[in-house]
Amino acid sequence: MKKILLIKPRGFCAGVERAIDIVEKALSKYGKPVYVRHEIVHNKKVVDDLRSKGAIFVKELDEVPTGSLVIFSAHGVSEKVENDAYIKMLNPIDATCPLVKKVHNQAKRYSEKDREIILVGHAGHPEVEGTIGRIDKKMYLVQTPEDVKLLDIDQNTPVAYVTQTTLSFDDTKDIINALNERFTDIVGPELSDICYATQNRQTAVKKACEIIDILLVIGSVNSSNSNRLRDVAENHGKTAYLIDNHTDINTEWFSDTTKVVGITAGASAPESLVTGVVQHIKDLLKIDIIEEQDFGIVERVKFNLPRELIQ
Ligand code: SF4
Repeated sequence: MKKILLIKPRGFCAGVERAIDIVEKALSKYGKPVYVRHEIVHNKKVVDDLRSKGAIFVKELDEVPTGSLVIFSAHGVSEKVENDAYIKMLNPIDATCPLVKKVHNQAKRYSEKDREIILVGHAGHPEVEGTIGRIDKKMYLVQTPEDVKLLDIDQNTPVAYVTQTTLSFDDTKDIINALNERFTDIVGPELSDICYATQNRQTAVKKACEIIDILLVIGSVNSSNSNRLRDVAENHGKTAYLIDNHTDINTEWFSDTTKVVGITAGASAPESLVTGVVQHIKDLLKIDIIEEQDFGIVERVKFNLPRELIQ
């Protein structure tokens, strides 16, 4: 007997819902075009849908005509980008997730207390670039426990750490342990900066690994939290694939011994993609049993829109 297990919570988090809502509300209030710096969230379908409604996605502010409305993505931006928007006389609306903003503010507070700031995160990710650009002095980036050993900071220097919101809970734990071992005067957030949505989706996948044979993670290749969901399953001994949608599915991934196919979705992946994948797997493996499990995790987080978009 074969089964599809739909893992909950999955898909959109409060920060992604808010960011998409901001672009849609801006389009309906101010009309086309609305410029968006960087992909509003890391999902191809979301970006394509908003593009079809009149959003123009740009890499840098240079591509935005003077005086235009520009939205900053959920990943956050550096202070320089914010200042450049005003110098260019743009009309910015900030879709930075409030949980990313919280990390920015933490880094600033630690920096004002004359601590060296260490950021646990992935090089090149827009959230990391935005966070690094939130304080005036150098921020040290570490990606692995090995990086901690290589930090050019004396062990008795007062330091503080903050982390990217979408990392793997387990990987971050190892890096924070390495930091605590290395420095004598170190502070960090009371609770991890890993956001509730990242944590919940990872916890649910971990629990699901006890009952599934294979995991399909729906999410784009540049989505950090989606990649981490695949990592979590692999670290728990399961084969896992990151797919954009049902067309990425390869029949060779499944065998006669594949009894339970787990499905989850990253925080930026819409539920319509999950529906497409379920239908495809159902037809492919001739499965009639579809179960949904929330592993006792309930999400009720909601974030307010920026004041200028509240009607
Ligand atoms: S994954 Fe977390 S930090 Fe990122 S947008 Fe969603 S709620 Fe915010």
